[in-house]
Amino acid sequence: MGGATTDLKLIDEKGLRIDGRRPDELRPLKIEAGVLKRADGSAYVEWGENKVLAAVYGPRECHPRHMQNPTRAIVQCNYNMASFSVSDRKRPGPDRRSQEISKILSEALEHVVLTHLFPRTSIDVYIEVLQANAGTRCAGLTAASVALADAGIPMRDLIASCAAGKVADTIVLDLRNEEDNFGSADVPLGLVPRTGEIVLLQMDGDLSVEEFKTALSMSTDACHRIYAIQKEALRKKYCVAPAVIPAEVANAIHDVATEKPQGSDVPPNEMPGNLKEGVQ
Ligand code: UDP
Repeated sequence: MGGATTDLKLIDEKGLRIDGRRPDELRPLKIEAGVLKRADGSAYVEWGENKVLAAVYGPRECHPRHMQNPTRAIVQCNYNMASFSVSDRKRPGPDRRSQEISKILSEALEHVVLTHLFPRTSIDVYIEVLQANAGTRCAGLTAASVALADAGIPMRDLIASCAAGKVADTIVLDLRNEEDNFGSADVPLGLVPRTGEIVLLQMDGDLSVEEFKTALSMSTDACHRIYAIQKEALRKKYCVAPAVIPAEVANAIHDVATEKPQGSDVPPNEMPGNLKEGVQ
């Protein structure tokens, strides 16, 4: 980031990007929940050329004890980039970048986990980047919230995350490596879709106020699309046959799922088709 010069044509005459995407187009995104047997919860995300695994353990007693909080759980996120995940072999082990990302992702996740239900415990989230092509913190956060839900950790909502930025004077969504390296701004966003709360927002580079607003609206819109894919991944794993859902349970789920948060423009969630059928 920072507008290093390149001969690459980042935006062509038709307004398309280096990989043929439109400015507001996401890279292909696939999410799978519950991919690891030994973890309490897990998720795998393939997002363009990014491949990211998230595993969750806990809540379990927090050690060392001085880190315990007597009133709530702490969420400890560990973001790690594999040596083979980037073209220049990455030196194994933590560095300043991975410590920073671990910290901001922990703080984002603590906003949605109902931590007060588990005093003195730790909820550990491991994010392993197996292959990287920019946007790994967003992919990691998106995977981690699905993994937390897969672990059965009570949460207010999932977090969906996506970056927008500026490349060759154009505001674009979901930057890939060349755009990240030779563009002039990158703004990762973490959103709680049901309430519209922002739990992660960073900015690398410079944008005018108007450009920032455009980027934020683009990434917010993308987060709602990502949210739908996250929920679909969980539904796919936990799909329950309609006949076994008692009517009152299905009705209660429907009430919660369609409740519109106050002061939010977020449309009410769609009730999964199989639950609708379960209502007598
Ligand atoms: N990257 C790299 N080596 C590193 C760190 C990052 O090649 O040691 C690449 C990697 O593809 C990463 C991208 O640079 O996804 C952008 O990194 P950034 O710090 O902006 O975080 P991200 O966009 O992945 O959240």
